[in-house]
Amino acid sequence: MQAQNIHTGRSVQSNRGLPRVAVIGGGIAGLSCARELHRRGYDPVVFEASDRPGGRCSSRATRVGWFDDGAQVIHKVDRLAGCASQRPDELAITHPWTVAEAPTDEGSRGYRRGEDKDESDLDARHTLRLVGAVGVPSMLALAHAVAGEVELRLSMSIGQAWRRGGRWVLADDAGADIDEGFQALVLAIPAPAALPLTSESPMLNAALRAVRYGNRWVLLLGTERSVGLPGYREFEGSPIERIAAMHSKPGRGRCPTQRWFVEADARWSALHADHDADTVADLLLENFCAHARRPVLSNFLCAHQWTQAFVETPATTARRTGYLWDGQARLGICGDSVVVSQVDRVHRSGLALAEHMVAALRSRSEPCCRAVYGLAPRPNHAALSTHG
Ligand SMILES: Cc1cc2nc3c(=O)[nH]c(=O)nc-3n(C[C@H](O)[C@H](O)[C@H](O)COP(=O)(O)OP(=O)(O)OC[C@H]3O[C@@H](n4cnc5c(N)ncnc54)[C@H](O)[C@@H]3O)c2cc1C
Repeated sequence: MQAQNIHTGRSVQSNRGLPRVAVIGGGIAGLSCARELHRRGYDPVVFEASDRPGGRCSSRATRVGWFDDGAQVIHKVDRLAGCASQRPDELAITHPWTVAEAPTDEGSRGYRRGEDKDESDLDARHTLRLVGAVGVPSMLALAHAVAGEVELRLSMSIGQAWRRGGRWVLADDAGADIDEGFQALVLAIPAPAALPLTSESPMLNAALRAVRYGNRWVLLLGTERSVGLPGYREFEGSPIERIAAMHSKPGRGRCPTQRWFVEADARWSALHADHDADTVADLLLENFCAHARRPVLSNFLCAHQWTQAFVETPATTARRTGYLWDGQARLGICGDSVVVSQVDRVHRSGLALAEHMVAALRSRSEPCCRAVYGLAPRPNHAALSTHG
């Protein structure tokens, strides 16, 4: 049977003889896990609720151009290299991102105040500071690169998961069964969404119950005039935690509108969780103008609340491993339910889970509980954790 990769259009040969794995969540964690399983000859299928991959590693098209509206920068990009490497005939998917830095040292983290200059004002007195790396031409491109050849089913929100005859069966939100002989299941979605899918594993269910997420408001702001702020800046003691200029990122192309991503801080976002988007947009614009020390005439203004933005308390049981695995249920968890909220960390969480699963699914006497929790194996785990 041939499956189609939605991004590349290339056909992917399904390995029907190998364990078929369902991965729920097409963010960086789920894609990394699925890609690693695929690379090792397994047959994963990623189910993603939205109409595009990437999750919070996200970019959005607007009438004034593209915005990265979730993750802005990857700090440990070398850890992503294995997945985001280009083909010989393609440009690199991640590029270093540098911003102009003024010579005087003062004030805020990440930039020196006093001589704020945006990209257009850059002159010989300014040095370039490396912020990190970004996906090119957008963070969405990075998600596509990580997905590689993996089979990805978009607009498929999974509402239920249970075991029947030793295999996982899923049901979408409309209640339609997806019974394709899945031998294992990976949940690469935030804990609140994953909880209803863990009824077959009381251990993992208990671990996820302890996980807490915080919300975050972001503002996407377009303006035709230069605002005199650097391309990336973090603030302390302000309702705004950081700003990032799309026009200062590499590979974003020229655009008449300056596009700014403005991220509110954790406390301010929590306080304004119940406010409407228009009110929040006006408040964040007001604060942005205060930092710019000038009025900013916007031609695009859109506030968005990420309700599960950053994990505040990850599942402590996964501190050492970066993933959770119940070998008896053949259920794994990766992503920022189990590590901190960073693209490189969730990527490694997905890889680590895949690596463990390959060993576990091949072994007929898998020491599942010992490996993951440091606990004695359950009495019947050996029989249940064999495959085939
Ligand atoms: C505003 C913001 C700024 C950030 N900035 C940075 C940054 O600069 N640098 C950095 O390293 N990190 C940053 N992060 C954190 C980083 O984006 C996340 O930690 C990371 O992308 C999480 O990846 P994930 O795969 O674990 O989860 P997600 O990206 O959330 O992916 C989960 C996916 O599962 C899907 N899904 C959910 N439920 C279901 C279901 N029932 N069925 C099917 N699919 C489902 C979702 O649609 C989503 O696509 C930021 C996050 C936010 C919100």
